[in-house]
Amino acid sequence: MKLFAVIIAFIVFSIFSGCSPADNDYGFDSFSAWKHLKKMETIADKCSYIDSQLKKSGLNVYKDSFVASTPLGDRDMTNIIAVIPGKNRDRFIILGTHYDIKELNPPMSGANDGLSGTSVLLALADSLKDPPYDVRLLFFDGEECIVEYNDSDGLFGSRNYADKLYRSGENRECVCMINIDMVGDKDLKYTLSADTDLKLYRKLQKAAEKENLQKTVTFLNGIILDDHVPFKNIGIPSINIIDFNYGPGNSFWHTPHDNSENVSRESLDKTGRIISRMIMEFDEL
Ligand SMILES: [Zn+2]
Repeated sequence: MKLFAVIIAFIVFSIFSGCSPADNDYGFDSFSAWKHLKKMETIADKCSYIDSQLKKSGLNVYKDSFVASTPLGDRDMTNIIAVIPGKNRDRFIILGTHYDIKELNPPMSGANDGLSGTSVLLALADSLKDPPYDVRLLFFDGEECIVEYNDSDGLFGSRNYADKLYRSGENRECVCMINIDMVGDKDLKYTLSADTDLKLYRKLQKAAEKENLQKTVTFLNGIILDDHVPFKNIGIPSINIIDFNYGPGNSFWHTPHDNSENVSRESLDKTGRIISRMIMEFDEL
């Protein structure tokens, strides 16, 4: 009788906890991610917000400022770095995203392009505990080009950081680089670049299958330039997890339609769950 009551209670709990904040193995809280996204839509100084939220999560935060030489002159930029300590402290995984927002007139909030990845990383800063390796959370500045993407325009933050890794020799301790960008579209389907590292792709696919989200992972017939590229260029296995099909025919990308009405918490949830599993169950490449 008692056991029966427990079973009934368990069934009722299971039904009603179907959308509870921490309803997955690794505790990713998409409600928290969504709160970050909505908040950041309203504030200009995203750097200070990210810094304060990471500190609230109990992490050491390092703001790495540098001067970027852009087609429109020098600009001050800042990457933000926080480390989640892992079981093996000798090696690390980079989990990156960009927090700068494309400057447009009229402006866009960048709910998808910039804020979706940033929000997921901020929620992961809270939920990822004791991963196999250190996880370096990298919030890049200056991903967006000022005029046109080329070797000296765009990817300012990631190029700066990859260059520092290479010059210090730390690149040899880096297991891999996972970048996330534009993961908030309501119809979430990753469009992986054709040059994606295959071992990382398999890990992503396996994590997605375990979350019953395997249909979320698709390939694009082309190459996507994003913050993973500077790391790939210095020999670090890299993957860019992005849905580069935002709105009909990607028509919301870099337009005022990129706002929180056109992204969903559920999509942040999918990405948070997949990334959590991919990192927490990471074995050798
Ligand atoms: Zn963009």
